[in-house]
Amino acid sequence: MKCRACTRKAVIKLPSHNSAFCPDCFDRFVLSQVGRAIEERSMIAPGDHVLVAVSGGKDSLALWEILMRLGFRTTGFHLDLGIGDYSRESRSHVESFASRHGLPLTIESLRDEVDGSVSDIARATRRPACSGCGLSKRYFFNRTALRTGATVLATGHNLDDEVSRLFGNLLHWHDEYLAKNRPDLPSLEGLSKKVKPLVRLTEKEMATYAFLRKIPYVLQECPHSADAKQLLYKKLLNEVEAASPGTKHAFLFGFLDRIDRFYPEGSPPETKEEASGLAPDGRCEQCGEISWTPVCSFCRLKERVRTGLSEKR
Ligand code: SF4
Ligand SMILES: [Zn+2]
Ligand SMILES: [Zn+2]
Repeated sequence: MKCRACTRKAVIKLPSHNSAFCPDCFDRFVLSQVGRAIEERSMIAPGDHVLVAVSGGKDSLALWEILMRLGFRTTGFHLDLGIGDYSRESRSHVESFASRHGLPLTIESLRDEVDGSVSDIARATRRPACSGCGLSKRYFFNRTALRTGATVLATGHNLDDEVSRLFGNLLHWHDEYLAKNRPDLPSLEGLSKKVKPLVRLTEKEMATYAFLRKIPYVLQECPHSADAKQLLYKKLLNEVEAASPGTKHAFLFGFLDRIDRFYPEGSPPETKEEASGLAPDGRCEQCGEISWTPVCSFCRLKERVRTGLSEKR
């Protein structure tokens, strides 16, 4: 198999692009796809200060490295979830990456705010671990972006993440989530601008990039990931992609071409609960962060874990 760009030996075949690339041409391909995503959707402007949410996985560390190579000013943010060995290994990869490249890094620990781990949150709320974990991450990411004065918050979601999310939201017609199923969300009062510059690249492409660039990342899976529905959706979508290359890209970007027509209101609240609450510029009585209800969902989660009460939503 030869590289389509220079005829050297190819190391990766990309059926959806009808291409195969050698390491050097693949590197150029990845940088150009990220640059194109940023430019097409005005994700990051020169002079922006980007807070990169880094979990310790391949996507977020590769994103941080790519943004650095593209010349953006970045600070990493890692939330230590307190999930045993998985979190210890994740944190150590993030710290090593930051020190190797001399990049600023902020770390916070979920346990400093919540009286327990992700598993304790799941038990107290009687909801899947990923639900409380996702809520906590959104809260910490937004709060840290605002506190550090970052103008953009970037996460390492790739094409597969975004397509599987869209697929799940469509299966259940979650309008409130579909309206936000985009790789760029503008900043609002109390809410940071959020972008996903890896949206044009697949999981396989990101794993290849991390390997070729010798970026060490956490290899073990989060012990809760097996419960995530997203894995099933990704498996199904990969089968469709194998039979018809390019489907994932066409599905997501076809939706993004139509999203303003489907959801012309712009950025509605993220959950039904928020939609039924106060004005979007309301503040949580307890923590002072943006909230659609008198006490924000994160502070209510903390309280639930603390008292050990479980309420059905
Ligand atoms: S798999 Fe779920 S619990 Fe684990 S880090 Fe991801 S969102 Fe959190
Ligand atoms: Zn080549
Ligand atoms: Zn709060």
